[in-house]
Amino acid sequence: MSTWQNWAGLETATPVRVEHPADEAAVVALVRRAARTGARVKVVGSGHSFSAVAAPEDTLVRPDRLSGILAVDRAAGTVEVLAGTPLHVLGDDLARLGLSLSNLGDIDAQTLAGAISTGTHGTGGHGRGLAGLATQVVGLRLVTGDGTVLRATPDHHADVLDHARLGLGALGVLTAVTLAVEPAFRLSAVEEVVGWDTMLGGMAERLAAHDHVDTYWFPGTDRCLLRISDRVPAGGPDPSPVPSARERLVADELLAYGALGVATALTARVPRLAGPVNRVVGRLAGGRAYTDTSHRVLTSTRRVRFREMEHGVPMAAAAEALAAVRAIADRHRVGFPVEVRSAGAEDVPLSPAYGRETCYVAVHVHRSVDHAPYFAEVETALAALDGRPHWGKVHRRQAADLAPAYPRFADFLALRDRLDPQRMFANAYLRRVLGP
Ligand SMILES: Cc1cc2nc3c(=O)[nH]c(=O)nc-3n(C[C@H](O)[C@H](O)[C@H](O)COP(=O)(O)OP(=O)(O)OC[C@H]3O[C@@H](n4cnc5c(N)ncnc54)[C@H](O)[C@@H]3O)c2cc1C
Repeated sequence: MSTWQNWAGLETATPVRVEHPADEAAVVALVRRAARTGARVKVVGSGHSFSAVAAPEDTLVRPDRLSGILAVDRAAGTVEVLAGTPLHVLGDDLARLGLSLSNLGDIDAQTLAGAISTGTHGTGGHGRGLAGLATQVVGLRLVTGDGTVLRATPDHHADVLDHARLGLGALGVLTAVTLAVEPAFRLSAVEEVVGWDTMLGGMAERLAAHDHVDTYWFPGTDRCLLRISDRVPAGGPDPSPVPSARERLVADELLAYGALGVATALTARVPRLAGPVNRVVGRLAGGRAYTDTSHRVLTSTRRVRFREMEHGVPMAAAAEALAAVRAIADRHRVGFPVEVRSAGAEDVPLSPAYGRETCYVAVHVHRSVDHAPYFAEVETALAALDGRPHWGKVHRRQAADLAPAYPRFADFLALRDRLDPQRMFANAYLRRVLGP
């Protein structure tokens, strides 16, 4: 019997059977079979959710044979993609076509359907607005609880499109997703280490002026690493040399390990080391400048395993939220950075950025560290500021307190009743966050 485990190692499950459907017809067949026997079905992506959102109970469906681009419509600026396509494969395939997604998260190891289903997002300065991948979805194909295939577009089953682009795997099996794409573009990134007050004081101006702003604050210090990326005008010269893959990897890994945090914490305690340590920090992370294809600049490799929780709070509450998290992280002597990103107001019903400009605050610990006391305090503080949790990351929120946080929660539940009345796609996580 094969065991399923998520990337962080926090969740495991032993499904009764494992399926690898080769096409949509095979998905329909397995769903109909499960409907007859009353079995539950769970499609997994790449297992990169920290929460148990993807944990299978009876049948585990691996979408590894549902990968690749099905159709390109250059006039409409869309591509139809098989739902199990890993984002890194999609990024390379789109680049070969001279196309690109508008935005991505920190990594590209996830499958397309897995990523959109939990609200995976990157960071968007308000100049560029949207950060969530689901906002780029303009069509999808969904196999519902009785094996019906729904082709949802803005004109046909629009309500299904609206909700199933961030559907938590609760509404059916996505077999294909149509995405809005744009001509390939390059991003020029600059990284800089600044103090907390500079980070916070200049936040609004920075977001207004730039395409993507990503901030890492190192607990126990005053130091923040700002990563600002802007589009390079087509045909323009590279503002800086492209870094080697190895250079990127070393710097990204240092960031992931929290080594920069350790270094900067040292300078806080032994101020005479500040000069040499900051010089090393500056050389390794801050002070880097590079230009590359958009998906290579936006995403990094994360080989160090960690645990993560993230909430989106209204942008107006960002300063208060960050001050609260700073005090909690310092008290817990956390070694991993706190990541701060932003999104414009989105119209995806279950997106944490639904209806409001959002500041995302993500906290991390090494996978070997008990996250519970730190995450619980942060969650309480951010929930009090109207924070909404990332569905794919660790959190303890439940249906009763999530419903008031999402104005269209009841619509989602009504659609779930219609598309999956038998709860074929449910698991313990969905029963907690959506109800029975
Ligand atoms: C190192 C790391 C970095 C990350 N960085 C970011 C980031 O920058 N921004 C961010 O927002 N998140 C980030 N995440 C979280 C991650 O993007 C999400 O948890 C995402 O959902 C994982 O995708 P997956 O393919 O692994 O899907 P899984 O975690 O395996 O599944 C997620 C959900 O999708 C459903 N699903 C999968 N395929 C289908 C399908 N075909 N039809 C219907 N439902 C389906 C599953 O049932 C489940 O409900 C990160 C996670 C890790 C581990």
